Amino acid sequence: MTTPALSVVIPMYNEQEVLPLLIGRLRPLLDGAGLDYEVVAVDDGSADATAPMLLLACREWAQLRVVRLRRNSGHQAALTAGLHRARGEYVASIDADLQDPPEKILEMLALARAESLDIVYGVRDDRTTDTAFKRHTAQVYYRLMRRLVGKKVPHNAGDFRLLSRAAVEALRAMPERQPVYRLLVPWLGFPSGEVAYRREARAAGRTKYPLSKMVRLAVDSVTDFSAAPLRLATWSGLASFLLCFVLGCYSLARFVVGATVSGWTSLFTAILFLGGVQLLCLGLLGEYLGRVFVEVKGRPTYIVGYDSAETAEQAAVGVR
Ligand code: UDP
Ligand code: MG
Repeated sequence: MTTPALSVVIPMYNEQEVLPLLIGRLRPLLDGAGLDYEVVAVDDGSADATAPMLLLACREWAQLRVVRLRRNSGHQAALTAGLHRARGEYVASIDADLQDPPEKILEMLALARAESLDIVYGVRDDRTTDTAFKRHTAQVYYRLMRRLVGKKVPHNAGDFRLLSRAAVEALRAMPERQPVYRLLVPWLGFPSGEVAYRREARAAGRTKYPLSKMVRLAVDSVTDFSAAPLRLATWSGLASFLLCFVLGCYSLARFVVGATVSGWTSLFTAILFLGGVQLLCLGLLGEYLGRVFVEVKGRPTYIVGYDSAETAEQAAVGVR
C-alpha cells in the first residue's frame, strides 16, 4: 500500500442532500491537484441514504474510501475514526456541508510544505452566514477556551485543518476517549500556521449540531482541559464561610441586645443559596467523575462496521 500525499477526512451524519454537491466540488479539485490522495468519508452511523450513496460513489472514484461506524458516535468520534485510519502524509479534516471551502485544503497543503508546518488551521474571518446565535455562542466558547488552554488556541478555528503525519501520530498516541480536537491540536504545540476563509452557509440539509450537542461539546471542552471548575466548590465554600462568620457575629450581637425574632427572609435566602451552591458543586463533581468513569471503562469511542479500503485489500489477498 503506497502512502498518499494527502488524506481528506470527512465525518458525515445524514448528509444525503449535500453529498452529491460535495463530491462534485471535491473530486475535480483533488484530481486536478496532481497529487496522490485519498478521501476518507466517515459515515457516522447515518440513518438516511448517505451510506449507500457513498458506496455507489466508491465504485467509480477509486480514491474514495468509506469507513462506516456502526452507530452514531458524534462528530469528534467520527473525526477520531478518520484520523486513526487516514494514511496520508498530510491529513486534512473538513465538514461535509461545504461550509468550509475545500479549495482551501490545497492552500493549506502548500503553506505546510513551504514553511514546514505540522498544523495549518482554517480560521473563519467572516461568519456572517452563521446565525447570530451561533456566532455569539461561538465567541463565548472561544474566549473561554483561550483562557483555559492558553493563547495558542486560534480564534474561530473549528475542525477544518491540515495535520502532518507527525501531528496525526501524536494525536493517535493520546489515550483520551473523548478528545476535543480543536483544543488538543493547539495543545500539541507543533509549528503551526493559519489560512483565513469565509464561512459559507450550509450547502444543503440541516445542521447536525443541535443545542444539546453544542452544550455537550462545550462541557467536554472545559472538563477536558481544566480542573478549575472544581475549585469553584472551594471558593464558594470559603465565601459562604466568611459570610456565615459575619452573620454569626451579627446574630450574637442581636441576641445580646435582645432583639432576636424576625429574620425569616435572611434564613430563607441563606438556605436557598447554600442549597444551590451545594447542588452546583455536586453537579461539577459528577461531570468529572463521569469523565473518569468513561476513561476507566475503556470502551472504544467508535466501532467500525466496514472500511472500503480494507475490504478491497482483503479481497485482493483472498480473505473473506
Ligand atoms: N457530524 C457527524 N456526527 C454527528 C453530527 C455531525 O459526523 O453526530 C458531522 C456532520 O455530518 C458534518 C460535521 O459533523 O459533516 C459538522 O456538522 P454540522 O455541519 O451539522 O455542524 P454545524 O456546522 O452546524 O456546527
Ligand atoms: Mg456545518
